[in-house]
Amino acid sequence: MTTIHTEAPADLPSTDPLDMLVVAPHPDDAELGMGGTIAKMQSMGWRVGILDLTSGEPTPHGSESLRRKETLLATETLGISWRGNAGLPNRKLEHTLDARELVASYFRVLRPRWIFAPYWQDAHPDHIAATEMIEAARFWAKLSKTNMPGERFHPERVFYYYCIHLRMAVTPDWIVDISEQWETKRASIEAYQSQFVHGREPQPPTFIDRLRDEAANWGRLINRQYGEPFATKEPLGLRSLEGIL
Ligand SMILES: [Zn+2]
Repeated sequence: MTTIHTEAPADLPSTDPLDMLVVAPHPDDAELGMGGTIAKMQSMGWRVGILDLTSGEPTPHGSESLRRKETLLATETLGISWRGNAGLPNRKLEHTLDARELVASYFRVLRPRWIFAPYWQDAHPDHIAATEMIEAARFWAKLSKTNMPGERFHPERVFYYYCIHLRMAVTPDWIVDISEQWETKRASIEAYQSQFVHGREPQPPTFIDRLRDEAANWGRLINRQYGEPFATKEPLGLRSLEGIL
C-alpha cells in the first residue's frame, strides 16, 4: 500500500538506502520537473523517493485533505519506493538551521546516493529557500557529534530539475529521454486536479498541453519524442560514451 510518511526522521520505519531522492518544495513539483525520469528509473529497478517539504496549501482550489489524496494518487501512478512530507510551512519556507537539520536528518535516515533539488534560479521564494536548504543539508548530513538520527552520510551528488516560475530560456546540462514515460508523467500531474485542471483555462493549449509541448521540445533537441532537462554544478562522470544518445 502506498504511504506518505509524515513521521519525524528518527521515527521512520527503517528502509533500504534510496538510489535517488527528489526533494520538492511542494507536492507536485517533483512530478512537474522530473516525473518521467522518476518513473523511468523506478521501472529500471532503482529505489526512488520523493520528499515534499510542505503541504503546498493553501491554494485557490485545494485543501490539505484534497492535496494529500492527490499526492497519494500521483505517488501510486509513479510507483516509487518511498514518499514523505517534512511538514515545513508552505509559503513561509525559510532556510533556517532547524529546517536544515530536519532535511539533513532525512538524508541520514534514507541514505540516497543522489539528491535532486529545484533549479537554483526561481521567482518562488519557497523554491529558492528549498534549494539552499537542500544543498546545506547535504553537507550537514555528514557531520559527526550531532543530535541528528542515523549515521553520518554524504549523498554523492546533487542535481537540479526544472520546476521554475520564471519564463527563462534555460540551458540544461543534459536531457533524459522520457518518450516511454510521458503518459505516466502526464497521469501523475493530472492527479493534482486542484492544481492543474480546476480553475485552469479549459481551451487548448491547456496547462497540460503546454507541458507536453515543452517535453516535446526537450525531446526534439535529443532527437526523441519527449525529454526532461537537468542541470548540475559539478561535471558529470560517464562510465563510457555509450549512454549518450
Ligand atoms: Zn512549488
